[in-house]
Amino acid sequence: MAQSGKGKLNYRCPSCFMRDLDIDMFYDKEKDEYYCIRCQYTGSEKDVLEKNEMVRFRYGAMNKRITKFDFD
Ligand SMILES: [Zn+2]
Repeated sequence: MAQSGKGKLNYRCPSCFMRDLDIDMFYDKEKDEYYCIRCQYTGSEKDVLEKNEMVRFRYGAMNKRITKFDFD
C-alpha cells in the first residue's frame, strides 16, 4: 500500500478502451484516484475496475455476435 508514484497495478482507461485506445492510467496519491491523461477520466480503483468489467463484457458480447454472424 505504501508504494509511491504509480498505482499497484496499471489499469487501462475504460473510457479510452471503449474507443479502441489502450491507455494506462496514472494514480493520484493525494486524491486516491486514477486518472487518464488523454480523456480526463478520473475514478477510484473500484470505479475503474467496474467500468473495465463493463467494457470487457460489452466487447465480449460484441465479439460473440460477430463470430456468430460469421458462422451463419
Ligand atoms: Zn482515457
